[in-house]
Amino acid sequence: MGTPGLSTNENDTLFLIKPGELMLKGGNRPLFMRALRRNMRATLTGIPHKLDDRHCRIYLRTSRHDEEETARRLRRFIGISGFARPLACPRDLDAVEETAARVAGACIASEKGHIYKIHVHRADKNYPLDSYTIACEIGSRLGKRFPALQVRMKNPDWVLHIEIRDQAYCYAFAEEGERGLPVGVTGKGILLLSGGIDSPVAGYLMAKRGLKPDAVYFHSHPYTSPQARKKAETLAGLLSERTGRLDLYVVPFTSIQVKIRERAPAEETTLHSRACMMQIADLLARRKKANSLITGESLAQVASQTSQSIRYTGSFTSLPIFRPLIGMAKEDIIAIARKIGTFETSILPYEDCCGVFSPRHPLIKPKFETIRESFHRLDIEEDLTRALKEAEILRFEEGKRLPPDNDPER
Ligand code: ATP
Ligand code: MG
Repeated sequence: MGTPGLSTNENDTLFLIKPGELMLKGGNRPLFMRALRRNMRATLTGIPHKLDDRHCRIYLRTSRHDEEETARRLRRFIGISGFARPLACPRDLDAVEETAARVAGACIASEKGHIYKIHVHRADKNYPLDSYTIACEIGSRLGKRFPALQVRMKNPDWVLHIEIRDQAYCYAFAEEGERGLPVGVTGKGILLLSGGIDSPVAGYLMAKRGLKPDAVYFHSHPYTSPQARKKAETLAGLLSERTGRLDLYVVPFTSIQVKIRERAPAEETTLHSRACMMQIADLLARRKKANSLITGESLAQVASQTSQSIRYTGSFTSLPIFRPLIGMAKEDIIAIARKIGTFETSILPYEDCCGVFSPRHPLIKPKFETIRESFHRLDIEEDLTRALKEAEILRFEEGKRLPPDNDPER
């Protein structure tokens, strides 16, 4: 929560933002900082604002009218470790006292409690007083102004933060950010996005490692309903609130599924269809200059996710396949899906394409050479290229589908 009822001037709110991991990245830091600024501007589309960065912090000003919407967008913004809404003032002790008293007064007025402590961060080491001296001095002055206040180091009701930078910044509450790397700094990945629980979570986790996802959904119309496809679209929109602009390729997959069903033994069909998905995603990655594929696979969750199956399906691309859920328990994946708001959509009861074409007894431990030969006999390569050519491309940004006439060349 921000300090209630306070701002630096009547109409403005200042956000003091702490970047995430990029602070550890040495020589790459300016590059990462640029990406962070660019992403932040994109996320703030529609909100008039001013953005600066100095000495490892981002300073964002918006009007008070936009304060809550800005905070909402920052909460889901990838690449920052947290943010506060401080009051800024000159650095002399009298000014700091005055400002600290406003923060303390607001905390008391909003019944946050009377037990507090002061935490001083002296980012400018040339400041003549050290942190301890500042804390003692301000603490004693606040004690005189607010006799009911008590200092306690352990479990205080609230913490008065004082940061000495180009100015002094005072605040009592900070919010945690999403952390991770700015989306895009590690390149682009193609996310195989089904309508299920796992793949959106996988896309989100890789976005936190700096990969900017575009997504591909394989649609088996009319075997799967328009609602199944709608799920993938909704999920792509939800992801775009965190990853920035995202293209969803809806690839017609029915004729491929049918061919597999006609030409391969029933127990192999799921594996071949996964293999085809992988190869189409690989073709798309090359077209989009993506450096990797992303899937929601989790070891042994289903037959097509045993190590033997993964070896086979993974052999249809030479790009790295990122499977961030590979070692995760389903409950933990669900917890993330709930947090990022995709769970409710993912559990809607419409089957994705593979449910319809699933064999009763799928192969669990395919023999690599044998199943590779079996794939070869499908004679399906051309179908894969054609399917990608026929893909429909939908573009999402900030949770919304962009109208087709706004879609530039892709
Ligand atoms: P999810 O919950 O993501 O659907 P799952 O546990 O149902 O995963 P599978 O259905 O075996 O597992 O799919 C494994 C992965 O393959 C998915 O996480 C996704 O990355 C990809 N995938 C499966 N079906 C599709 C599809 N129709 N379109 C795009 N990708 C798909
Ligand atoms: Mg699935």
